[in-house]
Order: sequence, then structure tokens, then C-alpha cells
Amino acid sequence: MDEIIIKDLQVYAHHGVYQQETEKGQNFLVSAALETDIRAAGMTDDLGLSTNYGVVCRFLSAFLTEHTFKLIETAAERTAEALLLQFPRVKAVVLEIQKPEAPIPLPFGTVSVKIRRGWQRAYIACGSNIGDRKAHLEAAVAALREDRQCRVQRVSDWMETTPYGGVAQANYFNGAIAIDTLYPPEVLLSRLQEIERAEARERKERWGPRTLDLDILLYEDVVMEEEKLTIPHRDMINRDFVLKPLAQIAPYEKHPVLGKSVLELLDEVKMDGEKHVLSNNE
Ligand code: ATP
Ligand code: MG
Ligand code: MG
Repeated sequence: MDEIIIKDLQVYAHHGVYQQETEKGQNFLVSAALETDIRAAGMTDDLGLSTNYGVVCRFLSAFLTEHTFKLIETAAERTAEALLLQFPRVKAVVLEIQKPEAPIPLPFGTVSVKIRRGWQRAYIACGSNIGDRKAHLEAAVAALREDRQCRVQRVSDWMETTPYGGVAQANYFNGAIAIDTLYPPEVLLSRLQEIERAEARERKERWGPRTLDLDILLYEDVVMEEEKLTIPHRDMINRDFVLKPLAQIAPYEKHPVLGKSVLELLDEVKMDGEKHVLSNNE
């Protein structure tokens, strides 16, 4: 990815643990590498197709001057987030904040923290089989659209499906949503559970009826297996009602463990697996 690079922007600000630091202030040096596609601007000589580094410098300076944090870790975290929310063409930023006048009673050059933060692509499965099923799914999309830390990129059709897992219950509508998000996986899961609760989701029996189920299928090429969260979703490869809507919005996305595309996985379930997507969705 192309980069726009700002080096050693000087900002007088008030971050620090000691009273002296927050009252009097000191110099900080900020460096940022903005990951962004600048080819279109380069081909056309049009600043409107790029991100104005002068504006970014003023933004960084204002943000770090107007806020006070104890830690440069927090200053970096919050500044990176604000920058990613403010400049839509920037996909990720590597941000370094130096504190060359830090209160260390030893000779030293500088101290700094450096972080990389960016928009991450995630795919979410959604399902509902109680009440106005499509309205619950639409409410999930609306909630994600309202969340500044998420950008909804694609939404599949809602497909009617028969229930999975052996519990007798009504048919579902299922779908898939592609988002870019600033949330790390665990926080995204909590956010999705909040949205489920807002639609009066109750957890009674496993795979039982529900107003809204939101599961993380894929998150970039993250592979994790923790008690509360497994990515890729453990059972997605066995579910046509997950893979079919996902194939509509991301056919060539690859499962990071199996190395197979969503389309390939869907073909495999169609050949050998259970069939839950009703034929009126073909
Ligand atoms: P399934 O995950 O088999 O589709 P379910 O969606 O009906 O089942 P829930 O009751 O919604 O199950 O969630 C049970 C737990 O699964 C949650 O509390 C959550 O911590 C955990 N979980 C693990 N991995 C994921 C994931 N990728 N997405 C969502 N929840 C997950
Ligand atoms: Mg589920
Ligand atoms: Mg779930």
C-alpha cells in the first residue's frame, strides 16, 4: 500500500504522569505513515483524490494539544483512532509519538511509542427466526451503520432457511454482512452481543430459536481459538445457510486455515453436507 509520511511534527502538549508535565507541558514529536492509495491522485494531479498532509498535521497538532493523557500509549491510541475516523481514504496508520524531554534522570536521546492501527475487514453471519425476522436483521445492519467504528461495505440477500442442530423450531432468515471496523475481534464480539440484546435476544438452549444471532465468521486472516471467541467461526464450513449468503458478498475470500475460498467451501457443502437454504433462494 502507498504511504504519505509525516516525520517529527513538533507539538507542545501536556501529556504525562507528573503534575509538572500536565501543568507546564513539553515538546512531543509525532511521526505518521498513512497507508492510503495515492495512485489516482498521482495520475491526475488532483489533491481532492488524496489526503492533504497539511490538514493532517494541523489535525494531529490540535488533537494532541486539546487533550491531556497520562501515557503516550493512550495519546497514540486515541490519536490514531481519531485520525482514522477523520480521514476516510486512510486505511491504516503507523503512528509514533516521541517524548524527548521525558523526566528520566539519565542521559538519553528520546523515548517513544509506535503503533499501527487500521480498518480491518470482518464478515458477520446473521440469523433470525422469531418475530419479524427480516426486521431484526435490518436492525442489525442499521446498528452497525450507526456505529462510527464500523463501516458496512456489503450486505447479502436475506435467505429463508430451515433450522440447524436438531431443535424443532421455525424457519430462519439468514444473511451475511461485510464490515470494515476499528474494533479488535473481542470488542467486535461484545458490540455484536449488545446489538443482539437490543433485539431482545435471549440465550436459552444452544441452537434454539432467537430474534437475532450475530456471529463473527472471518476477521482479516486472524486465527484464534479462545473460550469466548473462535475465528474463523468453528462451524461455518458445515453450514450452507452461512456460506451461501457469504458467497454472495465475498466469493473469493479465503478461509485462513483451510486455504479454500468461500465458493469452494460452499460447493463442498452442496455436494456432501446438509441442505438448509430453501430452493426459492436459488
Ligand atoms: P453457533 O456459534 O454454533 O452458531 P450460536 O450462535 O447459537 O451457536 P450463541 O448462543 O450465539 O451461539 O453464542 C454462544 C457463544 O459462542 C458466545 O457467548 C460467544 O462467546 C461464543 N463464540 C465463539 N466464537 C464465536 C464467533 N466467532 N462469533 C460469535 N460468538 C462466538
Ligand atoms: Mg450462530
Ligand atoms: Mg451466536
